[in-house]
Amino acid sequence: MLNYDLAQIFYEIADFLDIEGVAWKPQAYRKAARTIENLQEDVEEIYNEKGIKGLLEIEGIGQALAEKIEEYIHTGELKDYSKLKKSLPKGISELLEIGGLGPKKVAVLYQKLKIKNIKELEFAIKKNKVAEMPGFGQKTQENILAGIQLHKHGTERMLLGEALPIARQLVSELKKLKEAQQIEIAGSLRRKKETIGDIDILISSKNPVKVMDKFTSLSYVKRILAKGPTKSSVYLSSDIQVDLRVIDPKVFGAALQYFTGSKEHNIKLRGIAQNNGYKLSEYGLFNKKTGKLVAGKTEEEIYKKLGRQYIEPELRENYNEIELAKDKKLPKLVELKDIKGDFHMHTIASDGANTAEEMALAAKKFGYEYIAITDHTKYDRIANGLNEKEMLEHAKRIRDLNKKIKGIKIFAGAEVAILADGSLDFPEDVLKKLDIVVASLHSGFKQDKDAATKRVLKALDNKYVDIFGHPTGRIIHQREPIKFNMPEVLKLCKERKVLLEINSSPSRLDLKDTDIKQAIDIGCKFVIDTDSHAASHFYGLEYGVATARRGWATPDHIVNTKPLNQLHRYFRKLKL
Ligand SMILES: [Zn+2]
Ligand SMILES: [Zn+2]
Repeated sequence: MLNYDLAQIFYEIADFLDIEGVAWKPQAYRKAARTIENLQEDVEEIYNEKGIKGLLEIEGIGQALAEKIEEYIHTGELKDYSKLKKSLPKGISELLEIGGLGPKKVAVLYQKLKIKNIKELEFAIKKNKVAEMPGFGQKTQENILAGIQLHKHGTERMLLGEALPIARQLVSELKKLKEAQQIEIAGSLRRKKETIGDIDILISSKNPVKVMDKFTSLSYVKRILAKGPTKSSVYLSSDIQVDLRVIDPKVFGAALQYFTGSKEHNIKLRGIAQNNGYKLSEYGLFNKKTGKLVAGKTEEEIYKKLGRQYIEPELRENYNEIELAKDKKLPKLVELKDIKGDFHMHTIASDGANTAEEMALAAKKFGYEYIAITDHTKYDRIANGLNEKEMLEHAKRIRDLNKKIKGIKIFAGAEVAILADGSLDFPEDVLKKLDIVVASLHSGFKQDKDAATKRVLKALDNKYVDIFGHPTGRIIHQREPIKFNMPEVLKLCKERKVLLEINSSPSRLDLKDTDIKQAIDIGCKFVIDTDSHAASHFYGLEYGVATARRGWATPDHIVNTKPLNQLHRYFRKLKL
């Protein structure tokens, strides 16, 4: 039984009852939700041991609530909750998420103004109707409007590349506490999803009060949403929610496994535990009959007890990883340390911030064995693209750098624009003089699927194209991917040995995880590039590697894991 889920349901019931105008009952539900949320023991354990009597011993739980908990343990749902939820319009839950709007105010808006969702609320505010309601006024109406704006902003998920540095900063602050034993990032951030809802951190400690005091008093914290001995939630100054949980060191692995998710992965795993005579929860893996804890300290021992090899967090999406783990057939995923070079970056010659020499020196320091400098071509005028003559002169200067800078190989390439009809921005007699050609879509994002497919197929059929740069052109939260026939394009890439780029730029991550997996099944090869526009951008490489891992890529799939002396096998024109 999951205390967390039950607490959330009780909170929701309380809000719904408030909106329906029911007296005193909401308070009882809220109090019970808080108690259950902060309970050290699993309510199902309590129930299994002592029955309903055990539940009644919990502070704030009376007969009626105890029966609700019992019902949830037996059936996995609550009839009253489902009924309540159905009786109210869907948009009501959304209204409750707006800052400055508690259930009491939502009740007035719903009952008096028949407002059922955010859209209707915005409309009513425009007509100044909300301010006229008793207990509201002009000031409140303004606050609600600000709350709506914030809500719209807040529902936009954070990019992996924004969330990870923030989470790491918090972890390093919390590590200074001597009361903290283990600290781990959990949730979708640990699975390295391309966007993140909120940040989850777990700490094992025997002194939760001290840990929570430190956490809620960190300088980044703008607002404390909840503070308890086992769970606290805060808003950071950048409107990012962070949940911290303090876990008993004995079962830290079980909690980490549970809170890492995904939900689908965990449901499947719990089923396997059930079928093998165990019970798996955030509190550990237990023998179903004796109730004895059999594993919980580490994730490894839990997977092992369930007859599985360890499953990397990036793979936990229930895409067959649990089945393959049984036969120890999971791929050995590519790691950051495997990457030896980078085939896509810009300099001040087009729209970068550093010179080729500065980029090369920074790349060497970053640990790369080789790089390709690939500035924009003339079609990309806003990116200050180079014409044919300028590019060839630039290439000569880049090649000359190899005499000056030792310990890294510098190739001269270009990121050539794919024009609307699928031709390339440079003629073949120029392309063949470049070491590496990245071909990219920088325009025509609204083309229909057939035209886009034809365009891409034609471009990649050009024998001088080595890499298909950021293939779909998407920009997360800003621009939809170009819709072309993906399987057909992937097949051509395989046939023509065109490498697919996994672009590490946090707002691109293009190809994305599921496309990578599909491309691997078809037999394609990849490069993980940073598309750096400044020397400091090399550090983004880890986001590309994370995305490759989520796509099940091994070092063998990724060409820039190969040493310099093997690159000629993958690029037609490379002279080493
Ligand atoms: Zn580009
Ligand atoms: Zn680029």
